[in-house]
Amino acid sequence: MENDLTRRQFVMGTTAVVTGVGATLTMPRPARAASSTELPPLPYPDNGLDPYISSNTLSFHYGKHHKAYVDTTNKLIEGTPLAGQPLEKIVASAADSPEKAPLFNAAAQVWNHSFYWKSMRPKGGGAPTGPLAPKIDAAFGGYDAFKKAFSEAALSQFGSGWVWLIASADKLQILKTSNADTPIAHNLKPLLTIDVWEHAYYLDYQNRRADYVNAWLDHLVNWEFAAENLVRT
Ligand code: FE
Repeated sequence: MENDLTRRQFVMGTTAVVTGVGATLTMPRPARAASSTELPPLPYPDNGLDPYISSNTLSFHYGKHHKAYVDTTNKLIEGTPLAGQPLEKIVASAADSPEKAPLFNAAAQVWNHSFYWKSMRPKGGGAPTGPLAPKIDAAFGGYDAFKKAFSEAALSQFGSGWVWLIASADKLQILKTSNADTPIAHNLKPLLTIDVWEHAYYLDYQNRRADYVNAWLDHLVNWEFAAENLVRT
């Protein structure tokens, strides 16, 4: 439990202790070999997010960083009872065991990155339409206020981490997590995420994280994916 408390960092909403681990949220995954976690295909070409995220950034981020997390996960589960288990189960199994921190870090980063790629799409961004629009209004008082809160969370995350839009008891909240930490390790339901590790933006924006976050919100965020997650049980 100590790990949960030290890893978790809320910016809005409840600070209630969450004791469970994520077993309710699943992501569609391609078929994989029986004993290993696989690198899922990107949902768009390497240059699909140009010019806001370049093919150079995407190819390194996906082909090097994400792949390395997959490789490390597979190395650490090889020959153990976790080999062949769903990724969510591997993350949950490692979440509360300090001795499994290397596995948690790798497996959670596999999951987080797969979710991040789907949180973006070509010609995305802007205010949501559809089922999320009234929920954004109810939770934040309008899209502009949401955008301000989300941007502030992304800019104030010290060091490496992630910022999430989550649905908690059907109310939307913004959540920050450090390093590899992930909402599914806290039985929370993520709708969207932005990667604020420097490797996500440094080649394109150098130290200008604010420009990356603005571009992400204005041109990349995939509200359709968020809406799919909202109704997923
Ligand atoms: Fe990353």
